[in-house]
Amino acid sequence: MREGIRPHSIEIMPLFSGSSGNSILVSTSDTMVLVDAGMNCKKVVEALSIAGVEPTELSAILITHDHTDHIGALDVFTRKFGIPIFATSHTWEGIHSVEKKPHDAQLDHEIMTGTRFAIGQFEVLAFDTPHDTSGSCGYRFFTESCSAAIATDMGTMTPEIFDSIKGSDGILLEANYDRDMLWNGEYPYILKRRIDGQYGHLCNDDCAHAVAQLCKTGTRHFILGHLSKENNLPQVAERTVLRALLEEDLVRDKDFTLRIANRYTPTAPLLLEASDEKIYLQEVVG
Ligand SMILES: [Zn+2]
Ligand SMILES: [Zn+2]
Repeated sequence: MREGIRPHSIEIMPLFSGSSGNSILVSTSDTMVLVDAGMNCKKVVEALSIAGVEPTELSAILITHDHTDHIGALDVFTRKFGIPIFATSHTWEGIHSVEKKPHDAQLDHEIMTGTRFAIGQFEVLAFDTPHDTSGSCGYRFFTESCSAAIATDMGTMTPEIFDSIKGSDGILLEANYDRDMLWNGEYPYILKRRIDGQYGHLCNDDCAHAVAQLCKTGTRHFILGHLSKENNLPQVAERTVLRALLEEDLVRDKDFTLRIANRYTPTAPLLLEASDEKIYLQEVVG
């Protein structure tokens, strides 16, 4: 039970975010899930305790893909706390290949992108993300009258991703790198090409463009996440996104809110209040 969240509202709380590790707590009043479990078990437990959550209170862990910064904690965490895990079949192959010891197979749930599944109060939609590993996906969460989306680790904002997340009340979106910082930086050419490629990461400019379009189609709250340590700065990412919003005459704290996820420590939670005007789950049922 998560205190302070009204029925059907959703809270997004990044525990840590960036190439060193990612984990995001997504909660309703009675369902708590983690999106990704990077870093290590100890760090996830510590961050959860700052959020006031016991690991055993989690209903599920949803994995976006099998890169270490998203599953680093999973092996030990799962054997210790036995939380059900949801991932695509390709991501499961990756998870199993790096496990030091096998975990209880009953915890494994294989999901398919483009379809919805239920976890507690949530209905969840997984959607494909173009990234340099197979089975990579993002997630959108629905309650009866609120919706939130998490989309990181993608080379481009595809029309499919945009359609999957548009209209969410709040979105955590990747703002990985500033293109000038990347191409003027120290990384080897081949790595620069990979990051800037179609299956790499989303740059500030592409994130900014997407945020402006998403704001125009009804999303009010944004968190920028998965910032590169070497090729970005929080103020650079923020400035780039604010500029794109300003060009559309969108005003901060009136038309939108914007925050940046911390790299190593939990970020202040973003509470998305359920709105009576929106009825998500009846649409699905009907
Ligand atoms: Zn990745
Ligand atoms: Zn990543």
